[in-house]
Amino acid sequence: MIYLIAGHDTHRPGAIAHNGLTEHHYTTELQHSVTWINNRLHIKTDDESFRLTEVIEWINSNITQRDLVIDIHFNNNNPRATGTEVFIHPDAGQRTRHIATEMVQGISRIVDIPVRRHVSTRDYKYPAESHIGTLGIIERVLLEGVPAAPVILLEVCFLNQRDLARYEPQKNNVAKFLYDLLIRHTPLIGNLDPKEEKRI
Ligand SMILES: [Zn+2]
Repeated sequence: MIYLIAGHDTHRPGAIAHNGLTEHHYTTELQHSVTWINNRLHIKTDDESFRLTEVIEWINSNITQRDLVIDIHFNNNNPRATGTEVFIHPDAGQRTRHIATEMVQGISRIVDIPVRRHVSTRDYKYPAESHIGTLGIIERVLLEGVPAAPVILLEVCFLNQRDLARYEPQKNNVAKFLYDLLIRHTPLIGNLDPKEEKRI
């Protein structure tokens, strides 16, 4: 099962873009674009009125090691910043690291913005390396009582003029790319090629 979460909600819509639209607008739009590609997929989405605490409780009562949680975000409207980044738990498994790496490299290529790294040896970051220093969905989703569940927090790009000018014309390609990536790496659906299965 894939949990595709649109970061932020109608109560707290997140960052405000240079054009006045909210981060919630962009996260929901991308979430809908991915699920509209094929709504027969086993993709579960949150309701846009769900607060983060409710989302985490809902995931915690269902998640297994074979599932995948993607929490979509966009970075703030800092006019000098650019790039795409992903966050995972420092103890995340190889499958999560692999998908996070493919995700951020693919978006970087499609949108034509750099990958934002903390160290050059990996393309994903840990919550302590975020500007807040902690990321609830990564640290509070538990598998058998411990964190490091297969959770990826994606910051697609910045909500400034520069990044959005690159993202807007490519947003359907980003949705298609995410869809393909998710079905390729999530068992029970899509590709059951044994070579792919071994990685899990
Ligand atoms: Zn956010």
